[in-house]
Amino acid sequence: MPTNCPRCNSGRIDAKNYGKKAGSTIGTVAGAVSVAASVFRGAEIGATAGLVAGPVGTVVGSVAGAVIGGLIGGATGGAIGAKLGEVIDQNVLDNYQCLNCNLKFSKAMTDSAQP
Ligand SMILES: [Zn+2]
Repeated sequence: MPTNCPRCNSGRIDAKNYGKKAGSTIGTVAGAVSVAASVFRGAEIGATAGLVAGPVGTVVGSVAGAVIGGLIGGATGGAIGAKLGEVIDQNVLDNYQCLNCNLKFSKAMTDSAQP
């Protein structure tokens, strides 16, 4: 994160992180969608593994498989989305705003301004 405004050199910089927030939301939604698939897949694997232990094993295996599948899908989606958004913030959007002169600027601008 840049510490100073490229125009007035003020240190009062606000990071908006629009991309990160949007990316995290989109990622979580995408993750949740893939969770549905993972849950069924996890439940299927759990049920198959539980078959060895009989009907109770099938139920326990299904629940455990669904929970594990859901956790992995949601967490992965959110993390990937946030990371993608962070990259967009740093390279594409004017993610930073100077609270002193209201200049909006991106990380790339400060990089070129301060070699
Ligand atoms: Zn400024």
